[in-house]
Amino acid sequence: MITIIRGVDVYAPERLGIKDILIAGDRLAAIADQINPPADFPAMQVIEGQGALAVPGFIDSHVHIAGGGGEGGYKTRTPEMVLTDATLAGVTTVVGTRGTDGMARSMSALVAKAKALKEEGISCWIYTGAYQVPVQTLTERIESDIMLIEEVIGVGEVAVSDHRSSQPTFNEIAKIAAAARVGGMLSGKAGVVNIHLGDGKGGLSLIKEVIRNTELPHKQFIPTHVNRNPDLMEEGLLFARDGGLIDFTTSTVPQFLEEGETKCSRALKRCLDRDVAVEQITFTSDGQGSLPSFDQEGELTRLFVANSGSLFGEVRDAVLDEGIALETALKVITQNPAVNLGLPRKGRIRTGYDADLVLLDPDQLSINTVIAMGQIMVREGHAVVKATFD
Ligand code: ZN
Repeated sequence: MITIIRGVDVYAPERLGIKDILIAGDRLAAIADQINPPADFPAMQVIEGQGALAVPGFIDSHVHIAGGGGEGGYKTRTPEMVLTDATLAGVTTVVGTRGTDGMARSMSALVAKAKALKEEGISCWIYTGAYQVPVQTLTERIESDIMLIEEVIGVGEVAVSDHRSSQPTFNEIAKIAAAARVGGMLSGKAGVVNIHLGDGKGGLSLIKEVIRNTELPHKQFIPTHVNRNPDLMEEGLLFARDGGLIDFTTSTVPQFLEEGETKCSRALKRCLDRDVAVEQITFTSDGQGSLPSFDQEGELTRLFVANSGSLFGEVRDAVLDEGIALETALKVITQNPAVNLGLPRKGRIRTGYDADLVLLDPDQLSINTVIAMGQIMVREGHAVVKATFD
């Protein structure tokens, strides 16, 4: 299938101006001022893009795609992600992870879910492991999981500084990162370790110690939930200024924000104001994780499921409320995760890259059209490709 998008304002994420975009199959075939295919060209669909902004499809690189939660007993186990959880949120690439429950949520189920999302039309990779150390893998080695399982790009989310963690030691984290690095090198993948940071007083200290005392570079680690409390936020900001990568979690509830969590849009603004390069920062939704809701007295009333919808919501707030340029804010959910995670042909609007695009209405930056691997998934804000069991 050939698709042409006419006269759209392209943010690649840097602004390219008004362009035509030609999609051939699942790739971006050309981006030019004017593309005029021959009149007798067969089977071509045209999208009139005038007045819209075209941005790269969003990458949500920390989602419990096969379900998560369960921390309030079995009945609080959360459901799997469905296709439209991603596509309606503009997300065309997800990275799946297990979480607290590395027991009843298996690696096999995670791999199968990743394959299912790919069959449905979006792109998907996964981390091997869960909170627990030693890391539970599919092939008994981190290196071989990364080398031999197509979807596995690293390890995660390994929990540190958290009452739910395995209380991993310096040696354990160093060995996990070393194995991930070698697995990554041998397979041409990033081989990163996604680190879940809790509210524990250790903060980032274990990760910093490993970087200081081994040959492992900063970029081997992607610590997430860095915006969860003020101390961690400050420590993360300094870590990023030293060359570390930091990831902020967009899904939240009012109570967390009242207790000191920094809203992602504001966290981005604060980092930029203090000279952290935007390239060090990513946003992820923690989608399908469980989120509590509390009443006035602070009693748990019900549980919600985190959703990818919060991902672009925070980028939009960064632009509309914090005054950050769209081309800068976009990077945290497009180019940056693609680079940090070594995702081939992702995160940019560029000839030869995958045809993953979002068309935004310019005023409120609402999502109008979503294209994943050349296929129109969402049109006028409605899913035209439904999830299998919708
Ligand atoms: Zn986590």
